[in-house]
Amino acid sequence: MHFQWYPGHMTKAKRMMQENIKLIDLVIELVDARIPMSSRNPDIDELGKQKARLILLNKSDLAEDRQNELWAEYFKGKGYSVVKVNSKKGGGIKSIQGVIQEACREKIERDRKRGILNRPVRAMVVGIPNVGKSTFINALAGKACAKTGNKPGVTKGKQWIRLNKNVELLDTPGILWPKFEDQSVGLKLAMIGSIKDEILNTEELAGEIIRFMTEHYQGTLSEKYDMEETSDVYACLSRIAESKHCLLRGSELDTAKAAMMVVDDFRNGRLGKITLEFPEDYE
Ligand code: GDP
Repeated sequence: MHFQWYPGHMTKAKRMMQENIKLIDLVIELVDARIPMSSRNPDIDELGKQKARLILLNKSDLAEDRQNELWAEYFKGKGYSVVKVNSKKGGGIKSIQGVIQEACREKIERDRKRGILNRPVRAMVVGIPNVGKSTFINALAGKACAKTGNKPGVTKGKQWIRLNKNVELLDTPGILWPKFEDQSVGLKLAMIGSIKDEILNTEELAGEIIRFMTEHYQGTLSEKYDMEETSDVYACLSRIAESKHCLLRGSELDTAKAAMMVVDDFRNGRLGKITLEFPEDYE
């Protein structure tokens, strides 16, 4: 799924977020574990200030385990609650309820002092397109839970999903744009397949993936494609085409086909668990 944002979209999305955020106690922000910084919205901290904050490192199954740990530490150090999840397979989902209570402890305590008991925490899921918001909501809410609010003839308002007696979730996630004015962010989003990339063609994108892989995950491409890595990315691509018999009519190498294969293998985790940005670069 590809998205294109325009200034009008951004104004509307931000306005909706500002309205919805008034109704909630906790912002559940999904980021892509492969690019935890580049998959954040530039305004989310401003929008979510004074709310309890939970960051989910989603698609953690596609990112390197050790880097997931380091990123979790990084965000915890900045005061966020953090959970690594795989929304697609349900990994990490069970611990969410407990973490939500923990993240909202101050609010629950405040309520208690005012004599308000058992008021559920209200939460909203936010994130950039494709980060896994719907998949996460489905994994967390399952099928069993009833929707509340918007009962015909009773109240007109937001739809809330009651997860249990302690937590209610706004049923529509907040969609926000990434920091795409930053070129390196755009490139990483294109690498993982989250945005339509109009600047790079497939071969250039494969070139960037090869450049990154040979620098940070040396030996992976050699092993996967049975070829020798070199620092010349296009020579690498030719070698991959050769090794994998990507040929045009005659015997010319079909580097476009090889590029497609590399991009696809990378995005689907067939080159292994790969993290594209590292917390040490953001200290
Ligand atoms: P949304 O636009 O934020 O609502 O994203 P979706 O929920 O539609 O998910 C986008 C894509 O990512 C879908 O193909 C999902 O199957 C996939 N996806 C979501 N969560 C995960 C995850 O934790 N791991 C993996 N491997 N894929 C995921």
